[in-house]
Amino acid sequence: MPANPEVLVVGAGILGLSAAYFLAEKGLRVAILEREAPLACTSDKSTECCRVFWPGDEALAALVARSLELIGMFAPLVHPNCRGYLYVGEEESLFLMAQEAAHAGPLRVHRGASTYPKEAAWGLDLVRPEALGEVFPYLGHLRGRAALHVRPAGWFSAQGLGMGLLEGLRQKGGRLVRGEFLGLEREGGRPRSARVRLGEGEALWPFALLVLAPGPGLPGLLGALGLELPVVAQPHFKAWFPDPLGLFPREAPLLIWNEPQELFTPEERALLQEEAGLIPLLGPLPPGAHGRPEGEGFLALYNPFPAEEVPQGCLPTPPPWAGEVALRGLFPLLPRLLGYLGVRPRVDGGYYARTPENRPLLGPLEEGVFLAGAFSGYGVMAALGAGEVLARWALGEDLPSWAQTLAPSRFQNPGYRPSWAAAKAQL
Ligand SMILES: Cc1cc2nc3c(=O)[nH]c(=O)nc-3n(C[C@H](O)[C@H](O)[C@H](O)COP(=O)(O)OP(=O)(O)OC[C@H]3O[C@@H](n4cnc5c(N)ncnc54)[C@H](O)[C@@H]3O)c2cc1C
Repeated sequence: MPANPEVLVVGAGILGLSAAYFLAEKGLRVAILEREAPLACTSDKSTECCRVFWPGDEALAALVARSLELIGMFAPLVHPNCRGYLYVGEEESLFLMAQEAAHAGPLRVHRGASTYPKEAAWGLDLVRPEALGEVFPYLGHLRGRAALHVRPAGWFSAQGLGMGLLEGLRQKGGRLVRGEFLGLEREGGRPRSARVRLGEGEALWPFALLVLAPGPGLPGLLGALGLELPVVAQPHFKAWFPDPLGLFPREAPLLIWNEPQELFTPEERALLQEEAGLIPLLGPLPPGAHGRPEGEGFLALYNPFPAEEVPQGCLPTPPPWAGEVALRGLFPLLPRLLGYLGVRPRVDGGYYARTPENRPLLGPLEEGVFLAGAFSGYGVMAALGAGEVLARWALGEDLPSWAQTLAPSRFQNPGYRPSWAAAKAQL
């Protein structure tokens, strides 16, 4: 055990590593306690996408925008691209989304390909139905549909970012310890030590500050600490398909189908009625299927009805139909992908730990204890801004204006009751 208490960070996912990195940068001595290998849990399973496009949520937009500013420090490791996100569907709803996201830059509307900028790092390009096939030939089959190209968006290597943080932390004197956080011990009402399992034994680990970044372990950990915050864990899966026939456009941005859809034909539905687990998938399903090129293939994601689970481990087990559902979800966008029905993809996934308003829990929990959790489907893109602001909280420094709106204490305000029912489906 350390003689002088240091900062103890629980969890070496992307959020714990980022918090540890920024705390070490402030000159603090930092140790990370991790029960598995670093970056082996949710942070290993993300689609690695990022966007400064958060319709109606300026705080999240500011958090991600700051993170993407900071990512330049790790640019050689993360290979960011700016291909954007391309939402495809009914023009009116795309227009409304764009109007709620002034933070993404100006809205440009296109009736033909001549005004559409091929390269742009900023702004939103609304491609009207009459121009869709001309601008995106692979979407030419879609009659009457428009597309919204979000330009401050793309993808990057999350593992590269994690390795950069880990290496940076080591250079600043931080260390990684294998072990499990079990609970808090108090003296005079104030938390002073962590109860931890190290190897076969248990020990008390005095800390100067404690940061909890347990990813999907958050709901269980809050229970163990006797804290009540509205957070659930939902399994989300993704599938990687090889693309030997070149059916997924290699140059595409992240493609998102922004309309409700049905996955099965009436004949298929009749055949599948007997499969109890599939019944929820047989009716109309919400928007949100998405995919992008990856290596020699493509990633497909569609999680229309994420259940709530109490995670028994770090990662959920994908149901047998997860890959096919993800593939079928992309058919409205790229009907030629039908050619891959029957192909067995590589499927994996992780838990989205999330709150009702899909905002994170970032800031103090009680004196000397901080939380970086509930980062839902955006923890990789938000990690650097979150780590930076958490270090500022911990040292009592000035905070950006949006930081208070993400703090766990917002739920202590009796007037603040966001409803789960209103929670929007998020990628
Ligand atoms: C399918 C999928 C796609 C996604 N796509 C994107 C995307 O495109 N862009 C994006 O930004 N985000 C995406 N995300 C979300 C992103 O992956 C997560 O928000 C992020 O990885 C969460 O990081 P974390 O550090 O909080 O959790 P984790 O990476 O899960 O790390 C938490 C760590 O804490 C450790 N831990 C927990 N409890 C204890 C304990 N008691 N003692 C010791 N260690 C403990 C765990 O072992 C784990 O290593 C996606 C997620 C999924 C599942």
